[in-house]
Amino acid sequence: MRRKMIAGNWKMNNNQAASRDFVEKLESWFANEPTGTKAASVAASGKIEVVIAPPFTSIEAVRAAKKSGIIQIAAQNVHHESKGAFTGEVSLPMLEEAGCKYAIIGHSERRHVFHEPDEALEKKLIATLESNVLPIFCVGELLEERTAGNAEKVLARQLESAWTSLTSDIVGEMLVVAYEPVWAIGTGQTASNGDAERACDFIRTLAYEKFGIAASESLRILYGGSVKPDNSASLLSQSDIDGLLIGGASLEVESFEKIIETSV
Ligand code: PEP
Repeated sequence: MRRKMIAGNWKMNNNQAASRDFVEKLESWFANEPTGTKAASVAASGKIEVVIAPPFTSIEAVRAAKKSGIIQIAAQNVHHESKGAFTGEVSLPMLEEAGCKYAIIGHSERRHVFHEPDEALEKKLIATLESNVLPIFCVGELLEERTAGNAEKVLARQLESAWTSLTSDIVGEMLVVAYEPVWAIGTGQTASNGDAERACDFIRTLAYEKFGIAASESLRILYGGSVKPDNSASLLSQSDIDGLLIGGASLEVESFEKIIETSV
């Protein structure tokens, strides 16, 4: 059975004080509220994983405030080199030292606002898999690519350009893929359950064709794009959706808690 992941991507939100406050409230919910303690026991049994991706400068605040061991930290980006003259970048050993278990790679804002090309994302993915940080690799089509009937072609290109050199074991055990259609991110326009499931099934089929049944069956695939407490349960009930990557609705602790609640 694939462990579910509920991951909040805070983007460039939540300074250190706000991060501490959020994590303290979430920890208190896990420890004291009936729905929270249920979620905490499901997390302790290994069935769900709760992840927060704060801005780099708030990672330490999240690390210091998390007490129960339920919350894992993800970085929002990485550089593929471990050190050197790369002004403004943060390396994988630095992220590991800061307490990150995961790193988000290829988020649509990195691809489309900061113009990170497929080749750069392949380097990031490979470097991450060689480190002690695990990748959450994002893929997703633009609205015009979808309208032109090219959504699957785009997903295949983004994955094939990144995972060509990976092995079945790595894909099955270490990789998390997040399907985030760009037109659904921050727009309030969630993909329908059917569209989200079809895309995640397509990704799993690609993994099956390249890496075989065992890897494709254990690969975790998340959906992201305007997930809210009122649509998270139905998205999570789709057979190829193993979790959610949440932007806006992860910024309010109550809505993040409600989404976690729908995963247990
Ligand atoms: C995201 O940033 O990955 C995201 C899915 O954002 P939102 O939930 O706000 O659409």
